[in-house]
Amino acid sequence: MFAFRETPRQMPSRIPLELRRGGDWGELYGRFGEAEAKHQASRCLDCGNPYCSWKCPLHNYIPNWLELAREGRINEAATLAHETNPLPEICGRVCPQDRLCEGSCTLNDGFGAVTIGAVEKYIADRALADGWRPDLSKVASTGKRVAVIGAGPAGLSCADRLARAGIEAVVFDRYEQIGGLLHFGIPSFKLEKSVLATRRDVLESMGVQFRLGVEIGRDIGLDDLLAQFDAVFLGLGSYRYTDGGLPGQDLTGVLPALPFLVHNGRLVHGDDEAQGKPIAGWEDRVALPELHGKRVVVLGGGDTGMDCVRSAVRLGASRVTCAYRRDEANMPGSAREVANAREEGVQFLFNRQPLALLGEDGEVTGVRVAETRLGEPDALGRRNAEIVPGSESVLAADVVIIAFGFQPDPPQWLSAHGIELERNGRIRVTQPASGCASRRASREAAALPFQTTNPRVFAGGDGVRGADLVVTAAYEGREAAAGIARLLLG
Ligand code: FAD
Ligand code: SF4
Repeated sequence: MFAFRETPRQMPSRIPLELRRGGDWGELYGRFGEAEAKHQASRCLDCGNPYCSWKCPLHNYIPNWLELAREGRINEAATLAHETNPLPEICGRVCPQDRLCEGSCTLNDGFGAVTIGAVEKYIADRALADGWRPDLSKVASTGKRVAVIGAGPAGLSCADRLARAGIEAVVFDRYEQIGGLLHFGIPSFKLEKSVLATRRDVLESMGVQFRLGVEIGRDIGLDDLLAQFDAVFLGLGSYRYTDGGLPGQDLTGVLPALPFLVHNGRLVHGDDEAQGKPIAGWEDRVALPELHGKRVVVLGGGDTGMDCVRSAVRLGASRVTCAYRRDEANMPGSAREVANAREEGVQFLFNRQPLALLGEDGEVTGVRVAETRLGEPDALGRRNAEIVPGSESVLAADVVIIAFGFQPDPPQWLSAHGIELERNGRIRVTQPASGCASRRASREAAALPFQTTNPRVFAGGDGVRGADLVVTAAYEGREAAAGIARLLLG
C-alpha cells in the first residue's frame, strides 16, 4: 500500500532529444516492460475514493485494473479496461492525463501521480499483442443493423458497443483509413499509426464492418442508410477551421494547422498515394512549404498548436515560436506536451495577441503582435486577454501556422432529415455534451442519450460538443450506442 514511498513516479523512456530534433517521428514515449508496469501500478494507494475514475470522462475502473496489472493478470486487466473504454491503448497515449485522471490522483500531493495513462497503454498493447480479443461468444445477434458515419473515436466507440449488444455495426468513412483525426491529425510522435491497424483488426474480429472511401451525402444518401439500417450514428467531427480573420492570412507561407499536419503526416507515413484525397475544401492549401532552416511562428496554444510546433522542430526549422494570447496557466494544451515542446527547443511567447500577418512580394515575413494582460473572468470563469496599449512588436517569420481551433461544419443534408442544429452549428442531441446538470438535461433525462431530433439518428463526438478530446468522443460514442440499443431492443 505504501509502495509509492519507495517507488518514484516514472514515465516510460523517451526518444532521445537529438533524434527528435534530427527528424525522428517515432512515438515519443516507449512502452513499459513488465517489471516497470508492475512497479508503477503498485504505486496506487487504492485510496477508497477514486478521484481518478471520476475525472476520467469514461469513468474507467482505474484502481481495479491497476491492481490486476500489478498482479500480472493482463488479459483480465484488458477485459476490465474495455468494459468502459473501447479504445484504451489510444487514450493511454493521447489523453491529457495531467488534466484528467492523473491530475486528480491523490498522490499528486507531493509524491507524483500514478502513471495511469502509461499503464493503460501497457495493459492494452500487451494483451492485444498476445492475441487477446474481446470475448463476444455469449453475445447473440439481435438482427438489428446500425450505420455509423465516421470512423473517428466517436464512431469506433459506438461500433464497439453496438457489437457487444449483438447489433451489427457498419462504419462508413470518406477516408481510406479508420481513426478520423487519430489518423490524419495527430502526429505519429504521439500515436503510431500501427496502433490503429491493430484496433481495426480487433473491431473486425468483433464483427464490425468498414466501408471506407465512402462519403455520405455524396456517394450514398442518409435516406438510403435510413432505409437499409434500423438506426444511424453520426460521428462527423468538427473541421471548419477558425482563421481569426487576420489581415495578410492569404500570404504565401501562411498555413492552417490541419492541412499542414495532414500533409506532413502523409509524407511521414509514405501513404499519400494510398490516402489519395486531400481534406475536403482545402485542396488549394495542402502544399507544404520547405521548413528546413526556416523561422516558424505558430499562433495558438492548444493541442493542435503543440503538434504544429513539434512537427516544425522535426522538419528542421531553425527557430520555432509559439505565440499565445493568454498566460501559460490558461493555455488549453496539455502541460505534458508543452513541456515536451519546450524541451525540443520551442520558444513560448505568452500574452501575445496577433494583429496582422506582414509580407513582402506576397510572402509572409512576420506577425505583428501586441502584449496582453488578463482581464476579469467571464461567465465561464475564463479570463479574457486585453491588449496593453503601445505594446506592439513584430515577430519575424518565414512560415506562420494558424492553430486557432475548429468549429463544426454540419453538412446540408442533416436538415432534410429533421436533424436540428444548435445556433453554433453543433448537432442537437438529447443530452448536453458537457454532462453538467442543466434544466434541459433534467427535462431530457428520461430520453435516450445522444438522440438527435430525428429519433432514429444519434450523434456524438466533436460534431456535437465542438472540437474536444478523443476520450470525450469515445464517451459519447459509447453512450449513444447505449441509447441506440435501448431504442432498438427496449
Ligand atoms: P473525428 O476524429 O474528426 O472523426 C470524424 C470522422 O468522420 C472522420 O474520419 C471523417 O472523415 C468522417 N466523416 C465526416 N463526415 C463524413 C461523411 N459525410 N461521410 C463519411 N465520413 C465522414 N485529442 C486528445 O484527446 N489528445 C490529443 O493529443 C489530441 N491532439 C489533437 C491534435 C490535432 C492536430 C487535432 C486536430 C485534434 C487533436 N485532438 C486530441 C482532438 C481529437 O482528435 C478529436 O477530439 C477527436 O478525434 C474527435 O473524434 P470524432 O470521432 O468526433 O471526430
Ligand atoms: Fe486517464 Fe484517459 Fe485513460 Fe481515462 S481514458 S484513465 S482520462 S488516460
